[in-house]
Amino acid sequence: MLGLMMNQPLMISGLLRHAEANHGDTEIVSRLAVGGTHRYTYAAAAKRSRQLAKALIALGVKAEDRIGTLAWNTHRHFEIYYAVSGMAAICHTINPRLFPEQISYIVNHADDRFIFFDVTFVKLVEALIPHCPGVKSWVILCKRDEIPENTIPGLQCYEDLVAAQGDDFEWPEFDENTASSLCYTSGTTGNPKGVLYSHRSTVLHAYGSSLPDALGGSARDCILPVVPMFHVNAWGLPYACALTGAKLVMPGPHLDGASLYAMFEEEGVTMSAGVPTIWLGLLQYLQGNKLKLSTVKRLVIGGSAAPPAMIRAFDEHFGITVLHAWGMTEMSPLGTVNTYKFKHLALSAEERDRIRLKQGRGIFGVELKIVDGDGTTLPNDGKAFGDLMVRGPWITSGYFKSEGGNPLRDGWFPTGDVATIDPDGYMQITDRSKDVIKSGGEWISSIDLENIAVAHPAVAEAAVIGAAHPKWDERPLLVVVKKPGQEVGRDELIAFYDGKVAKWWIPDDVIFVDDLPHTATGKLSKLQLRDRLREYRFPGA
Ligand code: AMP
Repeated sequence: MLGLMMNQPLMISGLLRHAEANHGDTEIVSRLAVGGTHRYTYAAAAKRSRQLAKALIALGVKAEDRIGTLAWNTHRHFEIYYAVSGMAAICHTINPRLFPEQISYIVNHADDRFIFFDVTFVKLVEALIPHCPGVKSWVILCKRDEIPENTIPGLQCYEDLVAAQGDDFEWPEFDENTASSLCYTSGTTGNPKGVLYSHRSTVLHAYGSSLPDALGGSARDCILPVVPMFHVNAWGLPYACALTGAKLVMPGPHLDGASLYAMFEEEGVTMSAGVPTIWLGLLQYLQGNKLKLSTVKRLVIGGSAAPPAMIRAFDEHFGITVLHAWGMTEMSPLGTVNTYKFKHLALSAEERDRIRLKQGRGIFGVELKIVDGDGTTLPNDGKAFGDLMVRGPWITSGYFKSEGGNPLRDGWFPTGDVATIDPDGYMQITDRSKDVIKSGGEWISSIDLENIAVAHPAVAEAAVIGAAHPKWDERPLLVVVKKPGQEVGRDELIAFYDGKVAKWWIPDDVIFVDDLPHTATGKLSKLQLRDRLREYRFPGA
């Protein structure tokens, strides 16, 4: 017997309709690439999204068409998210930090019909045009009098397109499994692969990520997503904010410590989210200028391991709770978030410290397990580590156009991460499987070693890679960027590991560099680092 509940599809447009009806006067504030700040409300955003949907139809956009964006986090990008998906087309967010050849590959692979781009990317677009013949038209995200000089044939102006339409548009209702947005993985090996989200997966992810033990956003929050809308839909925040009615602050291209500080203070931001490198910049700015953040309560840190020293610094010096989160493009992206359980509240600070350094517990909607090389499930004892597998309704079942074949193993998605899971369900990543250091047949976690190095007061950033060793196959090599004006030597850093890890884990050598390579999504690029240090040999080896 079937239940007698309404079978109403989960639609992305439903999130916006909800925000308009219940949080119509809540603000969305954006810093723009052309300079200045734009303010309006969810009601105004909903109205303009309807106008934009009509503009898209007038341009000839049909259901399933891919509409690309090369854009910062702004109100216009927000409108594109809702208008494109809402009219049953597919919003394809493109990472402008990729190489132009990767971008044209992605645009052509996705068959993008139109591309909406910020003024910052005029030169990039001019370079892309000859390589992207399938794009019918390029739309610049500004007013007509803000369009910079360019050579783009038939360039369309976003504000003109929107202004030409009324808002008399009803969002259509269709199968909730319809594709809604597309995001390519950063593709450290091989070509980038497309992850295709659906209305259902997006709405469920917005529900799941808003739970109190997940990101816990609410109508009393003011949320600033630093994580770009071109990186896994800004971790779903543009959807979760509409669902919860949180005030939304969009930083545009201004992601440095000084700009973030100013926006946090001026807008009363209570929660923000981004990768560790962003928070490193903010911390250095705050400490260098002896500043405090007066309204921020929670910072979500994910995308790479949040170093314990960073979690402590925010907590102890700024009274801010760090929510350490883990996920992937293939997971919409949220998988785990670290929050305490009731029984942990009575623990000492030290005991709690051990828990909060982990990547956290699976939120409802994500199942986790670890397996050995044969696919046998390993125990959740916090000690055994193996390949981390996940499944759930917002996790990919395959890549766009079946690229790479079926990625699943017995219905589970292999994350490519190596992890432990403890009896309380807290998962800890020890490494990307490609980055784990294999020394004499045993595995050493590069993340653990990096976390220790960045706890040294003179270290700004650290990476540990396995460098070739004649006897042990690989040994850990620590690569360090020092804090400006600070000094520390090789021997002191090696001695810093004493008592913190097993002796055979301690790096064999240290190299000091001016900077470390990062990927287009702001993660340490071990691939590039290994490449840079290809010629490195351990002293005496
Ligand atoms: P992406 O799809 O670009 O978001 O990359 C996903 C990968 O980033 C994961 O498979 C992890 O290797 C890494 N990652 C994400 N969050 C964390 C975290 N909190 N700690 C360690 N690694 C992370």
